[in-house]
Amino acid sequence: MMRAVIFQGAGRLAPADVPRPAAGAGELLLRLRGCGLCGSDIAKLADPAARAPAVLGHEVVGDVVEAGEGAGGFAVGDRVVAAHHVPCGECHYCRRDSESMCRAFKESNLDPGGFAEFVRVPAANVRSATFRVPEHLTDEEASFVEPLACCLRAVERARVQPGDTAVVVGLGSIGCLFVPLLARAGAAVVGVDQQPDRVEGGRARGIDARVPDEADARVSALSAGRGADHVIITGGATPALEWAVRVVRDGGSIHAFAGGPGDALPVALETLYHRELTVTTTYSSSPGTLARAFWLIAAGKVDVEGLVSHRLPLERLAEGVELMRRRQALKVYVTP
Ligand SMILES: [Zn+2]
Ligand SMILES: [Zn+2]
Repeated sequence: MMRAVIFQGAGRLAPADVPRPAAGAGELLLRLRGCGLCGSDIAKLADPAARAPAVLGHEVVGDVVEAGEGAGGFAVGDRVVAAHHVPCGECHYCRRDSESMCRAFKESNLDPGGFAEFVRVPAANVRSATFRVPEHLTDEEASFVEPLACCLRAVERARVQPGDTAVVVGLGSIGCLFVPLLARAGAAVVGVDQQPDRVEGGRARGIDARVPDEADARVSALSAGRGADHVIITGGATPALEWAVRVVRDGGSIHAFAGGPGDALPVALETLYHRELTVTTTYSSSPGTLARAFWLIAAGKVDVEGLVSHRLPLERLAEGVELMRRRQALKVYVTP
């Protein structure tokens, strides 16, 4: 048996003893070193339609304690980072950059999930979503491979070009990952958050961070009055979209990186059409973006240090959820 935190539906989390999985052919069994708590975990907790019981958590770093035959060159003792979803790589969706819409994608998962003492990594995940962590990286740094990959997929889809002006709405840990990726793509980046402490935190990371009222003028100054080429919305739901429509340039693009409440978009079809606005979205990552994100972190090209604000043991996961809900934590990292 082993300890895990079970999501029981209706927002409830409870630690429990569950059977310990074992590695089959091509699979790995990890002893958890740590797992990041993701905004999507929080969203699932609040979603009445979410599958329960389940073990959440998918930003997993662990030590290999069992390696099945032919497990991709991994061996017992390796420290690895592993992501939860993998596409088939061969279907119509996969061949058109819609990997996260592949029917195999959501079916795949770590067993039982990241908030458990031991995690089985299925063979497909071992092949295309597991990376050996180099010695110079900390566990916490490695745990950002999956979230960074999701952001990278969004930036690649938005087709950012050198000389562009980009705005990131929301300076949580995801917003703080977007800024350096957009800057690497050649954009001048402004970060926006309504919370003064997040603006301050962003500035401490070297981000040109503003509250919304100040951001308008800054974007205008950077773009010769045109407005932003790209607005990436990482939170703030429909009011953020209204604001985005105001600051984006004619012909610019808005990327919705987060879901949220609201059945209709607060933008007129006439506006979308006459201003030639593009709305893009991305859900999750892909094997390609995971590999590139892993490289960016391993090579020190994207600095993730200082993003973890709270560290909690598995048994206190519910506290971490509360901290994230109240927007008091930038990122919660859970250890066994
Ligand atoms: Zn995540
Ligand atoms: Zn596929």
